[in-house]
Amino acid sequence: MNRQKDLFIVDMTTVTKGGSEKPIRRIVESALDFLDRAAKEIKTHPKYSIINFATAIELMFKARLMKEHWTLVVEHPSKAIQKDFYEGKSRTISTDEAILRLRNVCGENVPDDAKLIFKAISENRNRVIHFFHEAVTKRAKPSQIEAVIKEQCLGWYHLERLLRSWGKPFSKYDAEITAIDKLMRQNWQYLKAIYDTELPKIIEDQKKGIVFADCGGCQFKASEVSNLTDMILDHKCRVCGLGQRYLEFKCPEDDCGGTIRMEADHGTKGVCEKCDHELDQGEIGEALDTEMVDHGMMPDAKNCAFCMGYHSVVQHHDYFVCTECLSVESDISLCDWCNEYQIGGGDLEHSHYTGCEFCDGKAGWDKD
Ligand SMILES: [Zn+2]
Ligand SMILES: [Zn+2]
Ligand SMILES: [Zn+2]
Ligand SMILES: [Zn+2]
Repeated sequence: MNRQKDLFIVDMTTVTKGGSEKPIRRIVESALDFLDRAAKEIKTHPKYSIINFATAIELMFKARLMKEHWTLVVEHPSKAIQKDFYEGKSRTISTDEAILRLRNVCGENVPDDAKLIFKAISENRNRVIHFFHEAVTKRAKPSQIEAVIKEQCLGWYHLERLLRSWGKPFSKYDAEITAIDKLMRQNWQYLKAIYDTELPKIIEDQKKGIVFADCGGCQFKASEVSNLTDMILDHKCRVCGLGQRYLEFKCPEDDCGGTIRMEADHGTKGVCEKCDHELDQGEIGEALDTEMVDHGMMPDAKNCAFCMGYHSVVQHHDYFVCTECLSVESDISLCDWCNEYQIGGGDLEHSHYTGCEFCDGKAGWDKD
């Protein structure tokens, strides 16, 4: 059950009174307002910044679900009554549940890192509202404010890319999102104290040959680069803790020699900086695939439960990579019913009966 129900009610009643405004746009606008305040008040009113930031995330996920159908925001969609919903009388779901529904109903996967940070942010909000929270007392130490800023740095990193990928009506607010991004980035400067503490060690490690890159979150050059394979790179920031994973491809155009970098888990476009060549799924699969298959044999069918990609997964050294959403996993499971492999759907322990994300198992067979 959603603890911030009343905020949602306020929103929805304005919607009905307002008449012409589309409910979903009102929610997005409200969420943007909460984000704006969260960014502006982080130093002066950390308590409200925590609450506003968490509320904004929750509202954005509700808006995203409403884009599919309004009943998805209600706790029990089958019992949803539209009038009750627009009057704010329906129980609505938490961010956690919204993320789950987004996956199960809309086939859209939110990366694990993002899920974890959104969860931490909502738990922190609940602590602020219901209990004592160190960062909100008058004697809050700089390090405690830093912890809040760090959390928002990671939260905003993930939220922004989701908002930019959700299309209409979110795309109508590109300018507002950019303005909030600017405000948020100003806050990351407060993380400089952490950067200064880390710097001597970073310099020492650089001398040992460790490479550091600019962090995509806090922007400090504190992200340690490590190679999982010749094509998969991991970045881990020592200031804000952001982990980013990239896949690097050589441009397939003759004589180009350019490198194409794509972010894992997000299914971003891979465009060559030198010649603008855009990688297609076939080229991605071909470049990554390291599986040795006997002559005349077909490789095992491998699916992706993250994006519901059918036969979209290839083996790449010790990893399995989805050529559609670029999820990288070190484990893969076999479905005992359809005999196809799958990443992102757990261990498929009872799959003979229940099936996998791509088949209904024996249970489905028996039903027919
Ligand atoms: Zn960082
Ligand atoms: Zn190129
Ligand atoms: Zn996938
Ligand atoms: Zn199956």
